[in-house]
Amino acid sequence: MHDIVPQQSPVWQHLEACIRQVVQGYGYDEIRMPIVEKTELFVRTIGEVTDIVAKEMYTFEDRNGDSLSLRPEGTACCVRAGIENGLLYNQIQRLWYSGPMFRHERPQKGRYRQFHQTGVEVYGLDGPDIDAELIMMTARLWKLLRLERLELQINTLGTSVARAAHREKLIEYLALHRDVLDEESVLRLEKNPLRILDSKNPAMQEMIEGAPQLLDYLDDESSQHFERLKILLDGVGIEYRINPRLVRGLDYYQKTVFEWVTTDLGAQGTVCAGGRYDGLVEQLGGKATPAIGFAMGMERLVALIEDRELAVPDSTPHAYFVLVGDSAVSQGLLLAEQLRNALPGLRLRSHCGGGSFKNQMKKADKSGAQWVLILGEDEIAQQQITVKSLRDGKPQTSLDSSALIQHLKEFVIV
Ligand code: ATP
Ligand code: MG
Repeated sequence: MHDIVPQQSPVWQHLEACIRQVVQGYGYDEIRMPIVEKTELFVRTIGEVTDIVAKEMYTFEDRNGDSLSLRPEGTACCVRAGIENGLLYNQIQRLWYSGPMFRHERPQKGRYRQFHQTGVEVYGLDGPDIDAELIMMTARLWKLLRLERLELQINTLGTSVARAAHREKLIEYLALHRDVLDEESVLRLEKNPLRILDSKNPAMQEMIEGAPQLLDYLDDESSQHFERLKILLDGVGIEYRINPRLVRGLDYYQKTVFEWVTTDLGAQGTVCAGGRYDGLVEQLGGKATPAIGFAMGMERLVALIEDRELAVPDSTPHAYFVLVGDSAVSQGLLLAEQLRNALPGLRLRSHCGGGSFKNQMKKADKSGAQWVLILGEDEIAQQQITVKSLRDGKPQTSLDSSALIQHLKEFVIV
């Protein structure tokens, strides 16, 4: 688990602002769910033999004996919240959420125990138009963030009928290659063989390459859905690669699945992952409702923005206000309020805590501000503020408060 320190915050804020702009641009509404849920919710939805449920959840007993877990992901929570609040019954909902998730994984670059996801979930639409919209939305976000070189991988997991036919052949094949399966995969063989194809174990890759592919077992409905999705993506010029082994680590997906992947973050290359989960709402006690969603890993996106040194909006103060002496403090704090009233968007840091002129000037310089405003005895006597640029050698000037507002106006984008 990690802190996000002030130097990192501008990148986070920029990312969050871009996300907000994009989701609002598509007419999505925000939902906020609790961080803790009943353990059972995740066991029933994500699946008992997945990594998340078997090994990664932070589970504890509440004072009344209930088993609770810190949420490892948002989709199950969102479905639960949607059903409980009557948002899903005979309705279309386009929702998004953002917040911390918890998984007890081995910490490494791009993998943390508390991490943050922003997710989007849509209910009541069976696609593939909405599937394409979600992908377009993510593509637009990458563009806004100037994150080029992300690869879109898509696949279809078919309907449960198609999966059942494939599953039988897959188990047969995997059983024949039992000697190459690692311990985990042996456990999954009967319960969740598709997940074995998602294994990152290098010793199993060759065997996985040769396994029967779900794409060859697709029913008409899912292959038409997939074809139509591809046409829609082609139509808007979004490039993709079909990855037949993209199966996703959770049990509830079907039909469309997709991931945006980069090679720039080492092994932790997936920055956004999603898919269709038409059965989940009903499984949790709601009326059968088609659904699709995705989640983005915020730490990985932040790392990409930092690694590529992409520009983020400046959040350093425009001006630092040096206040020397008691009457400067009382007059200066008042004037600072007036400046903020007159110039919304102005980032003005007033010096607090007293100290010499020299010392305050050092702090002004360290703040990164473009301007220093100085109020001392002389200025008070003349009813002027001294204004000096800290970043170039321009001569200092003396301005009264209305001239100061005019002066700063130029630099403050409202
Ligand atoms: P991976 O294959 O990398 O383990 P996953 O399939 O477990 O990913 P999802 O549950 O699909 O991940 O979560 C969506 C996104 O959340 C991931 O693509 C990734 O960007 C991010 N993410 C998942 N787990 C972590 C983690 N432990 N630390 C940081 N980000 C994570
Ligand atoms: Mg994982």
